[in-house]
Amino acid sequence: MKSLIILRQLGDALPLGLTELASAAAKIAPVCDVLVLGGNTPELSVPNNVEQVFQAAVSDNYLAASSLAKGLSGFCRNYSHVLMAADSFGKDLLPRIGGVLDIAQFSEIIEIISPRIFKRPIYAGNALVEVESLEEINLLTIRTQAFSSNASNTKMLAAQALELGFAIDEQIEFIEQNQLVVGDVPPLAQAKVIVSGGRSLGSAENFNHLIHQLAVKFGGAVGATRAAVEAGYATNDIQVGQTGQIVAPQLYIAVGISGAVQHIAGMKDSKIVVAINSDENAQIFEYADYGVVGDLFEIVPQLLEKL
Ligand code: FAD
Repeated sequence: MKSLIILRQLGDALPLGLTELASAAAKIAPVCDVLVLGGNTPELSVPNNVEQVFQAAVSDNYLAASSLAKGLSGFCRNYSHVLMAADSFGKDLLPRIGGVLDIAQFSEIIEIISPRIFKRPIYAGNALVEVESLEEINLLTIRTQAFSSNASNTKMLAAQALELGFAIDEQIEFIEQNQLVVGDVPPLAQAKVIVSGGRSLGSAENFNHLIHQLAVKFGGAVGATRAAVEAGYATNDIQVGQTGQIVAPQLYIAVGISGAVQHIAGMKDSKIVVAINSDENAQIFEYADYGVVGDLFEIVPQLLEKL
């Protein structure tokens, strides 16, 4: 029994989530392997339970999951478990590998109870279910926030080049690869503090001015509701919720957010939740440890002044 972790490397940035995925793999078997798609790092710092690192050169043209799935599926057959982060890349690629292998995938795993029994949320996180796999290969997308990000022991491993037969999907035209935006706030997935704003901000200018500035004061990341994204106040890569990112920071500050179940699904594992809302009956207060009832346009500037 051995797990394969698949990660994508964009540019020189090391793949995110390796430590958490290796923690998850440690619940299955003592050692695991890692396959890095893209990038060109001859040596990688990895947790101690990683035995081998493979690196497959993947041009941007091949990054479409449909082009990768066929070539990867043969390699996956060498493993009892294949783990990917439950991010947009993992959610795109792993089901396609499952399709090629004719194997069902287990999604959004938050606990590995045994090598064949996994815990995952259902009904937008309102219930948890334990599922038992009868599959020959277990394909798992992992909620990395649910697994330890502390690798006490790490080592350097040389990456072995791997030739995989990728085929460009003719139905997909490659236009451009999103550039990683390096700004003054950290990415959502790594942030210990997240300040999120909702539709009530009223404009992109207000959103940037108030939410972004508050996040900078806390050294935290910026999040948004889907309503704020759809109104054009924020980009969809920072949407938190059922159809956005799942986050679990130490501190989550919800500014002018109603607390719809789909938003809660993405942030309810936050350690401390602070809500600012003018409606004292807003649903968000049911999930908040601290609540401020009032107008965000008065409260946030006061907070910014005091911090
Ligand atoms: P609203 O619901 O309009 O709430 C605005 C809040 O701001 C209200 O509570 C109001 O009292 C308060 N407010 C207004 N003015 C002020 C002020 N001046 N000061 C302080 N407070 C004020 N949503 C997500 O967020 N993430 C998802 O991933 C997601 N996925 C979805 C998937 C599906 C299939 C569906 C159907 C919906 C999904 N939604 C998602 C949308 C979700 O149902 C809600 O519509 C959305 O979360 C509401 O966003 P909001 O809280 O910004 O806006």
